[in-house]
Amino acid sequence: LWIGVPRERAAGEKRVATVPEVVAKLVKLGFRVAIESGAGDAANFADETYVAAGAEVMPDAAALYARADIVFRVRPPTLAEVAQLREGATLIGFIWPAQNPELMAALQARKVTALAIDCLPRQLSRAQKMDALTSMAGVSGYRAVVEAANAFGRFFNGQITAAGKVPPAKVFIAGAGVAGLAAIGTAANLGAIVRANDTRAEVADQVKSLGGEFVKVDYEEEGSGGGGYAKVMSEGFQAAQRAMYAQQAAEVDIIITTALIPGKPAPKLITAEMVRTMKPGSVIVDMAAEQGGNCELTVPGEAVVRHGVTIVGYTDLASRLARQSSTLYSTNLLRLTEELCKTKDGVIHVNFDDDAIRGLTVIKDGELSWPAPPPKLP
Ligand code: NAD
Repeated sequence: LWIGVPRERAAGEKRVATVPEVVAKLVKLGFRVAIESGAGDAANFADETYVAAGAEVMPDAAALYARADIVFRVRPPTLAEVAQLREGATLIGFIWPAQNPELMAALQARKVTALAIDCLPRQLSRAQKMDALTSMAGVSGYRAVVEAANAFGRFFNGQITAAGKVPPAKVFIAGAGVAGLAAIGTAANLGAIVRANDTRAEVADQVKSLGGEFVKVDYEEEGSGGGGYAKVMSEGFQAAQRAMYAQQAAEVDIIITTALIPGKPAPKLITAEMVRTMKPGSVIVDMAAEQGGNCELTVPGEAVVRHGVTIVGYTDLASRLARQSSTLYSTNLLRLTEELCKTKDGVIHVNFDDDAIRGLTVIKDGELSWPAPPPKLP
C-alpha cells in the first residue's frame, strides 16, 4: 500500500508527520511512501532527503491524496482535506474526536478508517512507544524553558565572575505531568533552582529525581482523578493552594504552568494579583494557554507584558522545535505501523482484539467506533 504524507497547512504548523529516516523503515516494512513536495521544509527536511530514503515526491496535495491508501498527518484535516481522501483510505494522526464532531461526521461519510493517536490508551505499557501525546508534551516542556530563558534577562545558573556574583534563577513549575517533568529537568540542567507542585502527590519522587524540590500544599486531599490524571479540587484545597502559589510568585523569577484536568477548563492557579507581586523582568510560560490558561492574564498564542512580567501563551511549543518533534512523532507512527503490519508485507490490519489498536480506532470503514471500551489491564 501507499503511505502519503501531505504538507501540514494549519497556520504556523512546522511539523511533518514523517521524516526521511522513518521513510526508509516504512519501505522496509513493504510500504511505498509518497510525500507532498515541501512537506518537510519547515522542519528542515528537504524533498531530496525523502527521495534518497526511498519516497516519491508528489507535486501537490491533490496528487498526494489521490495516491495515498494511508495518510499520515500531524493536525486533524480540514473538511476540504477530508474531501480529498480516497474512499476506504486510512487516516492516522491527531483527530480529537470529542472536540471535532463535524470532522468525525465528514470522515464517516467519506467511509474511511481513522486512527486517532490522541485516543491511544496511554495506561497500557505496550502503548508507550506509540504515545505521541507524551513525546509532544516532552518537547513542549523543554521548549517552554527555552522560551522562558529567552524572555528572561539573566542567567539561569549562579556564577561567580570577576564582574560580580550572580545568583541562580528560581523556577516554579505548576503541574508535574509529562510536560512539567520535562520542564523541571531542563531548567535544572540549566542550573536554576527548581521547585514544583502538583495535586497528585505521587509525582513528588519524580520531581526530586529530576533535580527539583516538591512543594506541598498545606491541605490533606487526594488529587488523583483516575488513570493518572488530576481532578477538580475542593474549595478548601484551592484556597490553601492559592496561598502557597502567592508566596512562590513573590519569590521566584520564572513560573511555568502545565496544569490540566481532562474534560475541564485549565485550573486558574496564577491570579492577576500574584503577577503584580512578581519581580520586574520575571517570566511566566503558560503551557495551558490553549485550554484557557493557568494564569488569569495569559493571552493564548501571544507573549504579552503585564505589570513588568512577560507572560508567554504560545500554543505551538512543539512546532517551535519542529525537527525534534517531527522525528519523535514519526517514530511514534512507525511503531504504530509496525503493530498494524506484523506481516511486514506493506498491508495493514486493524485488529480489534488488540486493546491499543482498538482504543485509537475511532472510525472503521466509515462506522463510528469511538469511544472505545476501556482496555483490559494486565
Ligand atoms: P495532564 O497534561 O493532563 O496534566 C498535567 C499535570 O497537571 C498533571 O500532572 C496533573 O496532575 C497536574 N494538575 C492538574 N490540576 C492541577 C492543579 N490544580 N494544581 C497543580 N497541578 C495540577 O497530564 P499528563 O502530563 O498528560 O500526564 C498525566 C498522567 O498520565 C501522569 O501520571 C503520567 O505519568 C501519566 N501517563 C502515563 C503513561 C503510561 O502509563 N504509559 C503515559 C503517559 C502519561
